[in-house]
Amino acid sequence: MNSPQKFVIRAYARAKVNLYLHILDRRQDGYHELDSLFVFGDIADVIEVSPSPALSFKVRGPFAEALSAEEDNLVLRAARMLADTAEIRPQIKITLTKNLPVAAGLGGGSADAAAALRALAEFWKIPSSKVDLAPLGLSIGSDVPACLLSGPCYVGGIGQRLEPLTEFPSFPLLLVNPRIELRTGLIFETFKKKFSKAARFSQIPPDVFALAELLQSRNNDLEEPAIEICPEIAEILVAIKKTKGCLLARLSGSGATCFGMYGDTQDAEQAAISLRRGGWWTEVTTTAKAKCS
Ligand code: C5P
Repeated sequence: MNSPQKFVIRAYARAKVNLYLHILDRRQDGYHELDSLFVFGDIADVIEVSPSPALSFKVRGPFAEALSAEEDNLVLRAARMLADTAEIRPQIKITLTKNLPVAAGLGGGSADAAAALRALAEFWKIPSSKVDLAPLGLSIGSDVPACLLSGPCYVGGIGQRLEPLTEFPSFPLLLVNPRIELRTGLIFETFKKKFSKAARFSQIPPDVFALAELLQSRNNDLEEPAIEICPEIAEILVAIKKTKGCLLARLSGSGATCFGMYGDTQDAEQAAISLRRGGWWTEVTTTAKAKCS
C-alpha cells in the first residue's frame, strides 16, 4: 500500500469543442464512426484529489446540482477502475468543481473522468508503462481519450483514434448553452441522414480566419438531430451568427452548447454580454494550443 500523502493534486477538465463532426458509419454495436476536430477551451471543471481514510466524492460549483442526482458518476467510475487496474486501495477524497453545464456537448462527464484519471495517476504515481489511461478511459466514455490529451486533435474511430495537432491556431471562442440538458445517445439515435466523408485539412490553417474558412465546408452532423430535439439551438445559432466579428457559428458535439469563433476577444466578449440577456449561459474562452495539465 502506498504511504499517506499530505498534498492535493489538481487537474482541469477543459471544455471540449468539436469544430466539425462528421459521422462516417454506424457500427453493429450501435456506436458511430466519426471524423472530428477537437479543440479545448481554458474554461474547465476542476478535479482535486487528496488523502482520505476511504474513497469519497464531493461536487460543488455552479452546476453541482445537475450532477447530484447521478448515482454512478463517471469520476467515481474512473477512480474505481484505475484503483482496480493498478491494485491500489482508493483512500482518497475527490472534489469536482462543476463550472461547465452538464450534458452539454462540451465533454462533460468524459472530461471530468479524464481529469480524474490524470490526477489519480499522478497522486498514486502510476507510470504510463504500468497503466495505459486511454483504453481504460475509452471504456468510460468515447471522448475520454481525447480529453486525456486536452489539446487540439483529430479524432477518429468512435473516439479512440487520436491525431494530436501540435501547431494549431489559438483563438477566442464564445460558448452559448440554453440550459437544456441533451442526452448524447438520444441525439445519435435521432441522426438519420446520409453518412459523411472524412474531412481532415490538407494543411493546418495558419490563423483563425483561414480555419473558419475551411470549416465552412464542413459540418456537425449532429446539429440537425439536436435541433429536432431542442429547437432553441437554431435560435442560438442565428443569434451568434448575427454578432459582430463572428466568423462561424456551430453546435459542439451532441449539444446543446453552440460556439462562435472570433478573430477578436472583445467582439466575443461583447457577443457574450448581449446573448446572456436571453437567459442563456455564455462564456468566452481561449482555445488551448497544445496538451495541458
Ligand atoms: O461513449 P459515451 O457514453 O459518451 O456515448 C454516449 C452514447 O452516444 C452512446 O451510448 C452511443 O449511443 C452514442 N455514441 C455513438 N457513437 C460514438 C459515441 C457515442 O453512437 N462515437
